[in-house]
Amino acid sequence: MSDCIFCKIAAGDLPSEIVYQDDRVVAFKDIRPVAPIHILIIPRKHIPDLTAITEEDAELIGYLHLVAVKVAQEQGLADRGFRLVNNCKQEGGQVIYHLHYHLLGGRQMRNLC
Ligand code: IMP
Repeated sequence: MSDCIFCKIAAGDLPSEIVYQDDRVVAFKDIRPVAPIHILIIPRKHIPDLTAITEEDAELIGYLHLVAVKVAQEQGLADRGFRLVNNCKQEGGQVIYHLHYHLLGGRQMRNLC
């Protein structure tokens, strides 16, 4: 989508600190980290939010989780543990309407909100 900031990051049209990318998924550092490690993992496909996924996206969403684990391993989080979060729509706290998961780690996680 032409006016989507995460589509632009995925396309390389906006600067970002990319830590992983392939033909389907991109992972980059969050610009306002809330943990020592805070990485956003997105599909290249523009999906506005989690409720917009279809059966067609099932494999992609599963693959995105495999990438999340791979990135967590690369960041040294696999043994320590980490949190993978999706904020969905307004009351879920979603601000950017391109599906993304927050990979958070490097400190003890406590509250859920
Ligand atoms: P949401 O609240 O789940 O939609 O999270 C959006 C996240 O995107 C926030 O944690 C922001 O800090 C992050 N963010 C916004 N713009 C950028 C950017 O240009 N680069 C990296 N992260 C961004």
